[in-house]
Amino acid sequence: MNILQECQGASRIAITGHVRPDGDCVGSCLALWQYLQKKLPQALVQVYLEQPAEIYARVKGYDRIDSRCGDTDPYDVFFVLDSVPERMMESARKLYGQARKTVNIDHHISNQGAGDVFWIVPEASSTAELIYQGIDKEALDQDLAMALYIGIIHDTGVFQYSNTSPKTMEIGADLIRYGFDFPKLILETFYQRTYVQSQVLGRVLLESIRFMEGSCIVSCLDRKIMDFYEVEHADLDGIVNHLRNIEGIHCAIFMYQTDVLEYKVSLRSDEWVDVSRVAAFFGGGGHKRAAGCTMRGTFHDCVNNLSLHIKQQMESGSAARTGSDSESNSRRE
Ligand code: 5GP
Ligand code: MN
Repeated sequence: MNILQECQGASRIAITGHVRPDGDCVGSCLALWQYLQKKLPQALVQVYLEQPAEIYARVKGYDRIDSRCGDTDPYDVFFVLDSVPERMMESARKLYGQARKTVNIDHHISNQGAGDVFWIVPEASSTAELIYQGIDKEALDQDLAMALYIGIIHDTGVFQYSNTSPKTMEIGADLIRYGFDFPKLILETFYQRTYVQSQVLGRVLLESIRFMEGSCIVSCLDRKIMDFYEVEHADLDGIVNHLRNIEGIHCAIFMYQTDVLEYKVSLRSDEWVDVSRVAAFFGGGGHKRAAGCTMRGTFHDCVNNLSLHIKQQMESGSAARTGSDSESNSRRE
């Protein structure tokens, strides 16, 4: 896709991603914002996202993000990045519906394509990789390169997961030419945790339970504990990977309470289970090795329902045990 071509004649452009924005979502949205500002200086370009974590404040455009979305004038082009339109923040939906043209760019295997124009590439490591491909390279500068790099490292676990392709590495190599301090960026946005985030991680590991003969693991944080440590969802990013990294585990589940009898569920797996199928059954989505959904019921109801689907896949051996799919992951994965 040539992104600029999609914006021909547009004077009002909006960009959004999914709720609880992760590194790829924030990086792609702000990279596209920077690019369009640069190429179309006469146009109004607006980013609508829920308030992203403080670690992304270093990305140019962070302070221009509108989390309330009070605008009512229709947009000429409305981009939805790293997400299906159903997962955008509630307050942006009306504007999306009124836009003259909607464009959906994503790499989630669960996204069938939505909007007037869509570009869905499950093989791509990240949406940031797609944005890189869709822009004129002469527009790249240090800020834009850094925004794209953040997107890529967060979805590949710093070039670690199987979604990392030779092309991903080539793009990474091109981006670091722009001279931002990438070791610092990786440390401070991906690996570093606050003391409290580390305490909560410890608690999650301590209270985890293995099941299905030790092949699966689950851990859950309820609202009371989250309030005690004063943590929010952004503090919990990446915790599920610590569960998955445990020897012998083929499928890891991390849940945290979002409401009375409601949990946000993160799923991670190896080649034994296609968790995008499990999440999709419960109205969520994602990638084969990293997916999520929101579930209602008690903790035990949720785990019972999830394990039924996980078990089915393990027993039927229907999960493609190739290990070479398009996996994507968020922070610290
Ligand atoms: P995480 O567990 O890190 O929140 O998400 C893992 C992957 O699944 C990410 O690529 C994320 O975008 C996707 N994902 C998480 N929750 C949902 C959901 O509720 N719906 C959809 N469609 N995708 C999700
Ligand atoms: Mn992504």
